[in-house]
Amino acid sequence: MRRSLTDQLNRPLRDLRISVTDRCNFRCSYCMPIDMFGRDHQFLGRDELLRFEEIDRLVRIFVDHGVSKVRLTGGEPLLRKELEKLIQMLASLSGLDLTLTTNGSFLADKAGRLKEAGLQRITVSLDSLDEETFAAMNDVRFPVKGVLEGIEAAEAAGLTPIKINMVVKRGVNDTSILPMARYFKEKGHILRFIEYMDVGTTNGWSLNEVVPAAEILKVIDAELPLEPMESNYRGEVAQRWRYQDGSGEIGVIASVTQPFCGDCSRARLSADGILYTCLFASAGHNLRDLLRCGSSDEEISAILASLWEARTDRYSEIRSSETTDLPKVEMSYIGG
Ligand code: SAM
Repeated sequence: MRRSLTDQLNRPLRDLRISVTDRCNFRCSYCMPIDMFGRDHQFLGRDELLRFEEIDRLVRIFVDHGVSKVRLTGGEPLLRKELEKLIQMLASLSGLDLTLTTNGSFLADKAGRLKEAGLQRITVSLDSLDEETFAAMNDVRFPVKGVLEGIEAAEAAGLTPIKINMVVKRGVNDTSILPMARYFKEKGHILRFIEYMDVGTTNGWSLNEVVPAAEILKVIDAELPLEPMESNYRGEVAQRWRYQDGSGEIGVIASVTQPFCGDCSRARLSADGILYTCLFASAGHNLRDLLRCGSSDEEISAILASLWEARTDRYSEIRSSETTDLPKVEMSYIGG
């Protein structure tokens, strides 16, 4: 059975992000601020997390409905024990584009095993090359060098092309835009600048802290001239730009200043099996209970179809001073 789903705004279901844990060893101010996610924060218990067999079963149902890309995320996905086993299970699904987003802190150690398990490529988050700025963004003392070594290990293992995600916060790491562009141009990895988003309710987001993608491009273009590129596919979230000297490409993800809900083909599954059809949703749909109360694949498949077909989400397009205060699921819980 293969049936491609589209929602009420005629958007296909193509892309699934799976959070494999809600835990993270970083406390990024834009994602898991330390005053909200300190020592006393209650993370999910082991039994609450979807088991690998459950994730594998759900992914097969999603693939039957047209999903061709799966990204493992978190929390920090490399904190999930024996993640390689899950990767091995998912990698056996033919034609699936399988990737992972990580903060890179365990990557130097794990890159080889991830590749052997069947992971194809990787995205690493890094917000600055400057130690003080990096620490100001993530509130831990993890050396930038450790992340760069992880990126090198990923390259050596063949987890390519490598993408680097940099969230830009005005007044905190905007001076890192050019040094990051220069460094990754030289290395040949695709650096993507992400506008700081109002996901969740704990990061105290304010529009003043957003550096618009157009401004980021202007800063880079003044020193390293750029030209636009075609998207790889409809619904690609990053706008692609290449250096005019032919030395590589960058991307900008302008979800605040140039929302792209109209092309959104993405579903998100939290570590405890709640399905969200929008990054800014306030509620999701519990698939774990369906799995654990004995529902058949056909029953779960029919529910998934009805959820996707009813979907009308377009938060970023209707963002306003009223919507930014609505309760929203945390990014660290559904993984970006
Ligand atoms: N721990 C992993 C990591 O750091 O890449 C995976 C989870 S993290 C939530 C996934 C991505 O979301 C990262 O690239 C992170 O920078 C991005 N992100 C988190 N909060 C964000 C926000 N408020 N605005 C924009 N991007 C954000």
